Amino acid sequence: MPPESRADDASRFRAPIGTYDILPPESERWIAVTETFAHRASRAGFDFVMTPMFEHREVFDRVGASTEIVRKEIYEFEDKGGRKIALRPDGTAPVVRSFVQHRPPIPWNVWYLAPHFRYERPQKGRYRQFWQLGVESLGVDDPEVDVEVVALAHGFYRDLGLSRFTLVLNSMGDAGTRERYVDVLRGYYAKHGDALGAEFEERVAQNPLRLFDAKRDDWLEVIENAPQITEYLSDDAQEHFERVQEGLHALGIRYELDPRLVRGLDYYTRTTFEFQSQSIDSAQNAIGGGGRYDLLAEEMGGPPTPGIGFAVGIDRVLLSCDAEGVLRDVVPRADVFVVNGLGEQAARQVTLLVMELRENGLRTERAYGDRSVKSQWKLADRSGAAYGVMLGRAEAERDAVAVKDLRSGEQVEVPHEALLAWLQQRQEAGGTDT
Ligand code: AMP
Repeated sequence: MPPESRADDASRFRAPIGTYDILPPESERWIAVTETFAHRASRAGFDFVMTPMFEHREVFDRVGASTEIVRKEIYEFEDKGGRKIALRPDGTAPVVRSFVQHRPPIPWNVWYLAPHFRYERPQKGRYRQFWQLGVESLGVDDPEVDVEVVALAHGFYRDLGLSRFTLVLNSMGDAGTRERYVDVLRGYYAKHGDALGAEFEERVAQNPLRLFDAKRDDWLEVIENAPQITEYLSDDAQEHFERVQEGLHALGIRYELDPRLVRGLDYYTRTTFEFQSQSIDSAQNAIGGGGRYDLLAEEMGGPPTPGIGFAVGIDRVLLSCDAEGVLRDVVPRADVFVVNGLGEQAARQVTLLVMELRENGLRTERAYGDRSVKSQWKLADRSGAAYGVMLGRAEAERDAVAVKDLRSGEQVEVPHEALLAWLQQRQEAGGTDT
């Protein structure tokens, strides 16, 4: 094969740009994060839901025709049946679609773990396939639900050991508020932004809300002095917003108000929030966010049903864990390593013992083939197992095995029939920590 085509193969067999493999032991941290989330969500009465990885393209229309996510980043294609299909760029729309389709009793509280797809410019903390954990609560518009949902996200970060993050809070008002506010902004920018150039004008025409994320110094002053959405809230929306703030205060959850937090999705009404890490790069510092979407179910053809949810990006959560030095050492270690001291012909005997220990809850490893006892003990040490169990000739004569505490090096003989109980007793006492 000519060298060029070998090089081509090498790049063809790499994960596509913006995607990644999650290998052990890193994958263990993903399990730990997911389990932490699952426990918290379950205690709050949320059940697991799974929706397809792709949907009809229209499901995402309400995420926002003018948003980057839908305008530029969506992965869409026509399937062999000529249907317009999109890979999920957002977690809320598919769950609400599922709610509208099945009409489960309300309140419907669900959580999910799912890959999401956006054609973004890849960088640290920003990928084309990324994983989100999220919750959605449909059916209740009580501000206490908002408080509980925000507290759930907050509690999840705290469970992981994170402390250097800020909760930022805003309200997008009711039906019509966003549209009225967009008009107000356009009017303001038409008066104050005319010297800022064609790109500025284009962005005002497209979606003036997105200018709040603009990083241009020459635009800063005009943007900072723009009217704020919170000046346009109805009395109801204002009262709702205040009750959410009082609730968070009562729970001792600190937050900052930011009337410019308008988020990248069009379906939000009333409460919106974002958790920002202070320990990672500011361009990718959003470790989670969400809000209320009281109109979305109806817009998807369902009965009028209020809803609220949030999603957290696992990648960024792990980056913050690294930066804060938490969630380390989650690598599971073997409980037991079985060493064959009887030669290759005893391999089946080792299999039987290994299976018995595994069936009884012990993470058990072994070696294969014709390895010397010495090299097996080396593997036992490397496995991190708490105990090594050796089938040895002298012990076999007494129907016993040799058990070595791999940390202290201390060795004892244990009758074969007492081995399982002996190991389990130590595991319960914390001798074999996994
Ligand atoms: P969003 O739906 O944009 O509010 O995203 C929710 C969360 O998902 C964010 O707070 C991030 O933690 C994470 N996230 C969003 N986009 C990406 C991406 N391209 N790569 C990795 N994580 C992301």
